[in-house]
Amino acid sequence: MLSYRHGFHAGNFADVLKHSLLTLAINALKQKDKPFVYIDTHAGAGKYSFKSEFAQKTGEYQQGIAKLWDSQDAPPELKDYLSAVRAENTGRQLVRYPGSPQLVKRLVRQQDRLVLSELHSSDVEALQQLFAGDKQISVSKEDGLQTLTKKLPPIQKRGLILIDPSYEMRDEYKKIIAALTTAYKHFATGVYALWYPVIDRTATENFMRQLEQSGIPRQLRIEHCIADDGPGRGMTGSGMLFINPPWQLDSQAEALLPCLNQALADGRGHWRVEWQVPEATVASAVRN
Ligand code: SAM
Repeated sequence: MLSYRHGFHAGNFADVLKHSLLTLAINALKQKDKPFVYIDTHAGAGKYSFKSEFAQKTGEYQQGIAKLWDSQDAPPELKDYLSAVRAENTGRQLVRYPGSPQLVKRLVRQQDRLVLSELHSSDVEALQQLFAGDKQISVSKEDGLQTLTKKLPPIQKRGLILIDPSYEMRDEYKKIIAALTTAYKHFATGVYALWYPVIDRTATENFMRQLEQSGIPRQLRIEHCIADDGPGRGMTGSGMLFINPPWQLDSQAEALLPCLNQALADGRGHWRVEWQVPEATVASAVRN
C-alpha cells in the first residue's frame, strides 16, 4: 500500500534541487529542433497547492521554494525554473507549485511528448484531470518502473527519463538498479535523472556504489545537503544521479549549488558535483 503523498513535501529543498536541474536538462534537449519524449516514472499529482492541508501540515515549502521564488538576484541557472513557479502564481503570494509534470509541460515545445506514470489513486486522478484532453501528454495508472522498458527506445530516439521514487519499499533500491540497467540496455543514449534522498549516509553510499558498478557509463552525481549527515531519521539532503547528462550540466550545477546552499541552508550545508563514472571511462570503454 502506498502511503507517500508528495503534497506534504512539494516545494521543499529537495524539490528545488530536483526541479531546477530538471529544467536545465530539458532546456538542453531543446537546443535541437528534433522532438524528444519526457518520461516521468513517478509523476505525483502534477501540481500542488500550498493552501492544502498537506502543505499546511508540514510547511516544508517554507524552507524551500519560499526562500527563492521572488529572488531578484538568482543566478541564470535558476531563471527558467523560477519563471515556471512564478507562472503558477499570478498574485503576489506563493500558493501553487508545479510538480515535475506541470513544470516540464511549461518548458516543452509542441513537438515534444510527456509520458507520465503514477500509482496512487488520488494523485493519478489529479494528474488525469490536470492534463485531460491534452494530446501531448499520456497519463497511466501503472508501475512506472515495471513499465519503463516497454517505452524504450522511444520513437523520437531522444528522451529524458525522470525516476523519482518515494523510497517506501524495502527493496526499492534493488528494483531501481534493475530497472535502470535494463532501461539503459534498451535506450543507451537517453538522459536518465534519478532522484535520491540522503537520510542514512551508509545506505545512500551503498546505493551509489551499486550504481557505479552497474556498468552504465557517464554518471554525474549532484547532491545538496542542508545539514550534516544525521542518525538516519530525517532527510538532511538529496541528490540527482544523471546518466548521459546534457553537455555542460556539470558546470551549470557548479554555478547553481553554491547559490542553493546560500539560499536554502544559509551557506551551512554541503554539496557535490562529481562524475561518479567519469567521461574518461567512456572513452576507454569505447576504445576497448
Ligand atoms: N515526480 C514528482 C514531482 O517531482 O513533482 C514527485 C513524485 S513523488 C516523489 C513519488 C510518487 O511516486 C508518489 O506520488 C507515489 O504515489 C508514486 N509511486 C510510488 N511507487 C510508484 C510506482 N512503482 N510507479 C509509479 N508511481 C509510484
